[in-house]
Amino acid sequence: MHQDLELFSELCDFLLDEEKNNPVATPIATSELFEKLDLSLKDEGVVDQDLTLALKAIIKHTPKTASTSFFNQLFGGRKGKASLGDLLSVMLNNSMYTYKVAGPQVGLEKEIISQICRLSGYPEGSGGTLAAGGSMTNFMALLMARDHKFPEIRTEGTRQNITLYTSEASHYSIAKNAALAGIGSNNVRLINCNAKGEMSAEHLEEVIENDVNKGFIPFFVNATAGTTVLGAFDNITALSQVCKKHNIWLHVDGAYCGSVIFSNRYKHLVKGLELTDSFSLNAHKMLGTPLSCSIIITKHKEQLHHSFSNEAEYLYQTDGDDYNLGKTSLQCGRRNDALKLWTLWKSVGTKGLEKIVDHQFELAQFARDYINNHPDYTLNSFDDSISVCFNYKDVPANTLCTALYEDSKLMVGFGKFRNTEFVRMVTINTVLEKEDILNFFETIETYVSKELLKNSLS
Ligand SMILES: *Cc1c(COP(=O)(O)O)cnc(C)c1O
Repeated sequence: MHQDLELFSELCDFLLDEEKNNPVATPIATSELFEKLDLSLKDEGVVDQDLTLALKAIIKHTPKTASTSFFNQLFGGRKGKASLGDLLSVMLNNSMYTYKVAGPQVGLEKEIISQICRLSGYPEGSGGTLAAGGSMTNFMALLMARDHKFPEIRTEGTRQNITLYTSEASHYSIAKNAALAGIGSNNVRLINCNAKGEMSAEHLEEVIENDVNKGFIPFFVNATAGTTVLGAFDNITALSQVCKKHNIWLHVDGAYCGSVIFSNRYKHLVKGLELTDSFSLNAHKMLGTPLSCSIIITKHKEQLHHSFSNEAEYLYQTDGDDYNLGKTSLQCGRRNDALKLWTLWKSVGTKGLEKIVDHQFELAQFARDYINNHPDYTLNSFDDSISVCFNYKDVPANTLCTALYEDSKLMVGFGKFRNTEFVRMVTINTVLEKEDILNFFETIETYVSKELLKNSLS
């Protein structure tokens, strides 16, 4: 093992150098992938020297999500202490289902959940768990809401026409999860947004009443804290009034920006969170832990048990339900995703997490100011969002983003709201500073004048 750790350390040094010197890895066409890299698996193994060469070539061509040129996705960067914690969980290799095999790891997961409940305004005695990503924590919320309203569904299956509600700008996992849960994607109602991408409480109420009149039973509303494209925050308080009136479970999908709960300056964006039934957030997005680290909390701790525990005598032999986390989990064997967040949190404190979040909003404001001061740009997004959406000159966003990537300049994606397509630059990457934002715009400007406009003239 010591030898492998030395090799690991050598590979990490290589990666860090690559990240710095070649921040956007040269893309390989999928048609050439297996010719350019030694990916084949054979009957005979290879010696370490050859393995090292193969791994270095793979590292070289793998997209660098922690480089200062990565603006492509709703995660990025690297927090050293979080990576350290995650590496340690690989070495320890526990499974989080029982206290007997995970020991203190159970305690640190419980501490994370209890602190997040406290910061969200949930009462003592609330519960939660971690799952492999926001799609899955959203799935857990949906199942709890379903079983809360229709306890017999767990044994009898779905027999009634039950409906759920989410905004047209919400994440696709909501519809996908409805299909997985046997509810059917046709029973997902997409609620209108206003011009800023926030779900309309009036339209929600209208659609619910219409459904009730037709004999449907509404059971779940999903609000979003940070929509995937515009980074908008739904008005939780307004939605909660509608849910109270109709006795509907309200979940907040905070996968993208739910971590605003750590910031005194920005937690107003999830005002009313204490009124909801469940809330999920991804620490691998705003907090910069390695993938994946998704947390869900709920006020209805007993529902976690009702929806996710199946008695398994061979597994749960000691230590009571509260410490056997498998009883509130979607999975059986479960990776330890808590240690990376705990290590980061322990080392920087809640105040350190607040700084990480505030910095992203500051950079987004810096980017918006730049755009507003440069007439060649048009801004397509709004204040209090870390998604900065824009167009430059008349270059189609799709063309621009693809060309920048193929020429190894920048990794940035494009998105669409209503009928406008735009570049979506995200300031979530934890290694970014203001100078990287300026570089980003400069790179685009130089590239467009030198390459794209030149080509279009020739
Ligand atoms: C990213 C995201 C998800 C999905 O999270 P994964 O961890 O990628 O599964 C869900 N909802 C929103 C709003 C997101 O931005």
